[in-house]
Amino acid sequence: MTSISGSHLGLVELADYELLIDSLGSELADQIRIEFFNRLKQWIRTSDHSRTIDQHRCLVVLKGVDSSAALELATAKLHRLFEHPYDLFGDPTQIEIRVGFAKLEGKTDLHTALQQARKALRQARSQSALYRVFDGRHRDPVITEHRTIKALENALAQGELELFYQPKIQANFGNIIGAEALMRWHPLNSPVIPPGKFIAAAERSRIIRPLTWWAIKSAMARMSRWPDNISVSINIPPHLLLDDEILDVIRDMLDLYGVRPPRVILEVTENIMVENQQQMMTQLARLRKMGLKVSIDDFGTGHSSLTYFRNLPADELKIDKSFVTQMVKSQKDLAIVRAVINLAHNFALKVVAEGVEDQTTADRLKALGCDYLQGYLFDRPLPVEAFEQRYIY
Ligand code: C2E
Ligand code: CA
Ligand code: CA
Repeated sequence: MTSISGSHLGLVELADYELLIDSLGSELADQIRIEFFNRLKQWIRTSDHSRTIDQHRCLVVLKGVDSSAALELATAKLHRLFEHPYDLFGDPTQIEIRVGFAKLEGKTDLHTALQQARKALRQARSQSALYRVFDGRHRDPVITEHRTIKALENALAQGELELFYQPKIQANFGNIIGAEALMRWHPLNSPVIPPGKFIAAAERSRIIRPLTWWAIKSAMARMSRWPDNISVSINIPPHLLLDDEILDVIRDMLDLYGVRPPRVILEVTENIMVENQQQMMTQLARLRKMGLKVSIDDFGTGHSSLTYFRNLPADELKIDKSFVTQMVKSQKDLAIVRAVINLAHNFALKVVAEGVEDQTTADRLKALGCDYLQGYLFDRPLPVEAFEQRYIY
């Protein structure tokens, strides 16, 4: 091979290929894959080296592209090639690609460069960017996640986690009937970190177990001081619902604090029913037998079929905020909201709308018969002291 030093190595992939197969079927996905390679061919110059490394990935050595300015020109061309949608049997379809680049310099061997390009590609993927370049200080998402989890373990031990509470309002009368406990991480001398920054990583690790048990204990300890007509909703990751320890944790807390079980609402996402349906049904039924309530969160976003509804051991549906925030503007979202409310009521379930941000939306929901409202219109999630000051004492 002629010298490749002073070049860039690029790992190019067709984005979300598995997802394309799932959503379009393998034949249509294959059309897109072929078009991906056709367009890519126009990018690769005869002086470059390229090799297809699997069905939807290709490795390219861009000879002579030795500076970031030169790389920028090359990626601009790539952008142009993939800019226009592909006509997939009359359906204009955007072809998304991701690229990870690494610079080939004097000492870098091809193997190391490939590893670096892989890391850059992972970053491009996680940021939904066309490309990323490995820069030496590159933070591998896997390492970042590992650090987050280590830091969370420490946070749990140091008492840096907090539950904020957001009121849940009765639509008809405007009075508070409960609150949702939402986790926050507050490192010493640093700003509060929202769950969007750490819950997903925690859920991929074992730390989610002690974290969830902590949330259950903390919420139940606090609510035991509140009036008996105020419930608290706690978010439970689906797989932990199947963990039999949850039964012991909750039973112990009910005993210790003398909280009436129906005041405790377990929020689980709709996706719980996708796998282990029978096992989930059984477990939800057990929890309800203990007197607890079950709420199906983010309803409308999952892939569940409506057939499971017949025997669903739940008390409440929460319409996902993506529909609620748009329902005044979008007829389609309004139709979904209306359908969910009717569906729930036909199965004797209560309905909560989350993400209620303005009065018009609240009025509409009330008129549609929605039972409970939650959202910024009433209050943001509040630190426990502020919540108690405003709603309890
Ligand atoms: P979620 O369970 O769907 O919680 C509702 C989210 O909507 C909360 O975000 C809340 O602050 C936000 N929200 C409330 N009212 C409005 C509104 O009017 N408009 C808009 N746009 N948003 C509103 P938050 O607190 O950042 O929590 C995000 C997610 O993190 C939660 O979504 C939940 O999935 C997860 N999470 C939060 N706390 C816990 C926890 O203790 N355990 C677990 N496993 N997950 C948690
Ligand atoms: Ca929730
Ligand atoms: Ca939700």
